Amino acid sequence: MRIPKGAKRLGTLHVANMATPIIRATAKQWPGLVDGDATLLGCADDEANVIVVRDGQDPSQERDSVNHECVHRFLAASGLRNVIRDEVLSRRRPGESVEDAEAAYEAFEERIVRVATPLIPTTRLVLK
Ligand SMILES: [Zn+2]
Repeated sequence: MRIPKGAKRLGTLHVANMATPIIRATAKQWPGLVDGDATLLGCADDEANVIVVRDGQDPSQERDSVNHECVHRFLAASGLRNVIRDEVLSRRRPGESVEDAEAAYEAFEERIVRVATPLIPTTRLVLK
């Protein structure tokens, strides 16, 4: 994986037995940090198997962002996302569009991640 110019590789974490690079970048360096009008604190790029945290956070917030994105990455890499997503989509209400059901899943995953993040062991990654 190529790191954008100016971005920094902070290290590697093993997430669901996959070596996952952790990158610190600005939204300009990593467009995946932009979601509509919002600039995210982090993102997990499942295709590239990389976690990116936004440059400029204090160390504590950056660690929280790494942990949060690790949970998202774990759900995807472990296959649990598909298990949960399939279950949520199978409970679609009559007349509910697939897009609405997908949005409901996204919100549900975010709730799972926010509950799980404080409970996972703090990453031992020493952020540079
Ligand atoms: Zn999230």
